[in-house]
Amino acid sequence: MHLCTIGTGTAAPSPTRVQSATLITQGETRLLVDCGSGAVFRMAQLGIDWRTITHVALTHFHADHTNDLANLFFAWRYGMLPPRTTPIDVVGPVGTAVLLDRLALAFGAGLRDAVPIQVREIGPGDSVALSPTLEIEAATVPHAPESVAYSVAGQGRRVVISGDTGFDAAFAEWAVGCDVLQLECSLPDQLAIPTHLTPRQCGAIAAIARPALLALTHFYPPVEDVDIEGQVAEGFDGRMLRAFDGWMLDLQET
Ligand SMILES: [Zn+2]
Ligand SMILES: [Zn+2]
Repeated sequence: MHLCTIGTGTAAPSPTRVQSATLITQGETRLLVDCGSGAVFRMAQLGIDWRTITHVALTHFHADHTNDLANLFFAWRYGMLPPRTTPIDVVGPVGTAVLLDRLALAFGAGLRDAVPIQVREIGPGDSVALSPTLEIEAATVPHAPESVAYSVAGQGRRVVISGDTGFDAAFAEWAVGCDVLQLECSLPDQLAIPTHLTPRQCGAIAAIARPALLALTHFYPPVEDVDIEGQVAEGFDGRMLRAFDGWMLDLQET
């Protein structure tokens, strides 16, 4: 399994971080989790083949996680020769099919005519096989009403992606045993709100989940002015890092 954080930013424009997107690859299965603004450009910049993505999963419908969906579909239709005809599976919370219908209304037939789309709406606790050796499971998290986190697991490896979330001990318990816990780390203590995480809350979740590696992402600019590593370490003494656009990790499979 291979993990790449394509976009580690937020709704706040950043010179170095485009909006949320993460790619998980296992063999021929190439899963893009979220597709915020700049994700398609960043994939091209990083030399990541956006043409062969097999699945897209959405954690929730906020614009900083979905803004580039239309760009991705247009790239498949107009940005490659011949245009893509391979079907795409889109996994997301209830409402995903409506979101795609509305994008098609806004952008016209080019959005979805060329590429057959199979939408699989999943709720908390549901899981979907992406391939015979890779499965995605959803858990509810406190952010937008539809928000889910994802566990992507197969061949002895498991990656958990929080999407946007507030502190939630049940989510942390659900993540126990994962190899990589990718957590949002949005705001410093003085700007804390119930629907996003601070570094100390990331540490508290990681203290419960005990991932082999904690990878932080989704940084609003003010949080990068504080000692993120130090504040996380108050609760979690394991391995951690600040992800960046283009951070990649190979996970040995068993
Ligand atoms: Zn977000
Ligand atoms: Zn959000």
